[in-house]
Formats: sequence, structure tokens, C-alpha cells
Amino acid sequence: MINRKSREDIKLMRHAGHIVALVHQEMKRVIEPGMSTKELDNIAYKIIKENRAIPTFLGYNGFPASICTSVNEQVVHGIPHEDVILKEGDIISIDVGATYHGFVGDSAWTYPVGKISDEVARLLKATEEGLFAGISKMHEGNVLDDVSSAIEAVANREKLGIVRQYGGHGVGRNMHEEPFLFNYSVGDKTLLKTGMAIAIEPMFNLGVDEVEVADDEWTVSTIDKKPSAHFEHTVVVTDNEPIITTKLLV
Ligand code: MG
Ligand code: MG
Repeated sequence: MINRKSREDIKLMRHAGHIVALVHQEMKRVIEPGMSTKELDNIAYKIIKENRAIPTFLGYNGFPASICTSVNEQVVHGIPHEDVILKEGDIISIDVGATYHGFVGDSAWTYPVGKISDEVARLLKATEEGLFAGISKMHEGNVLDDVSSAIEAVANREKLGIVRQYGGHGVGRNMHEEPFLFNYSVGDKTLLKTGMAIAIEPMFNLGVDEVEVADDEWTVSTIDKKPSAHFEHTVVVTDNEPIITTKLLV
């Protein structure tokens, strides 16, 4: 069942999302060569706690950190570690979740570390474009497949791989609610209605679609070891324009 959020729920989701956005703002500012992914996790934990929220990922199915840090060919669910040191030319995808008064904000962004190649910059730009193409379809009366198709069209145009096994999801009191949102068309005719909240999160690869899970049972990487990017916002369907909850409140 897809549950729809009330105005009060959406207010709390925007507050949760604001805290997630604060973390991303700081990640963008501090990421540089020489930094460990564990340092980034410590910073994120502190910001979430200071804002009286709960790091949603910490302990989720046993996940040991507050953020996922996925470097280069890693797609999602990378575990922060003091031995993983960022270097010039890397990219790092940071996924953040915060729970505030029972509601979740979920957002991921891929950041360049220093100067990156033109090819990898194109991957980042296209994946971000895929996210916003999906968001632009979050209108009442559209169907889920409109969102999926818009995301897929950007990857196809740029001849990028699309991760198939992972995708977007409903979000609210739980991080993962119905419906699942594919990042490619599967013909899902589920109607979008006011109050539906969905985390839209394209994962595009510079190489093939296929990914595998590492021995740590978390880290997902591309099988050809080519870079992957991940951009995600939590978005609510309204009577008017969709609301991105994972933005700074002004
Ligand atoms: Mg996420
Ligand atoms: Mg998500």
C-alpha cells in the first residue's frame, strides 16, 4: 500500500530533509584529497545529532555508519573507513538519511575530489540531469513509468549504463516504503497522487549496467570497475509543483 502524506507530515519531512541538506552542504565544502571516508562520516553524524535528528542509516539492517561513501566504481552502500583516503581525480557518492520526529529525508550526491576527467564529469552531469528529469514528472495524474522513462531517456542519450537492481522508493515514516521506482521503463501504471513521497535516485555507469556486492555484503560496485554516479532527492507530489524535501529550508 502506498501511504500519502498529510500537510503536517510533509512539514516534518521538509525538516528532516533540511538536515540532510545541511550534511550535503558541509560534504561539498570539506571533501578534498587526503580526507578519509570515516572523517566524512564523523562530520555527518555530528551535524545530524546537533540538529536533534537520528542518522537513519546507522544500524539499518546492521549498517555501521551514518552515511554511505561509495568511491569511483562503487555505486552505493560503501562503508566509511579510516583507511579509505580520497585522492585527486576520484569521485565519491555520499548517501545521507536523517529521521526527524519520525520522518525520513534521503538524499545522495556524487562529488568530484579535486579535478576530474571530462568523461567522468559528463557522467556526473548526466546522472544529476536524470534525477531532475524524473522529478519533473512528479505530477498528479502522471504514472510511475513517466518518472522511470524520463530518467532512462537521459542515460540512453548519453550512452551510459543504468544500474538495474537498485532504484527509488517511497519514503516517509520508513526509509523504504512502497512503491519501488525503477530507473528504466517497466510500464508501471501506478498513478501519482498528491501526498505521495518518493526518493528518486538514478545510478548511472560509465560502462556496463551490471553490478556486484562485495564480500563485506554492503558495497555495490560495477563489474567492469568503471565509475558510477548516484544522485537522489526525496520528492513529494502536490497539487502544484513537486516539493523536493531534501533541500535547505529558506
Ligand atoms: Mg539514499
Ligand atoms: Mg534512497
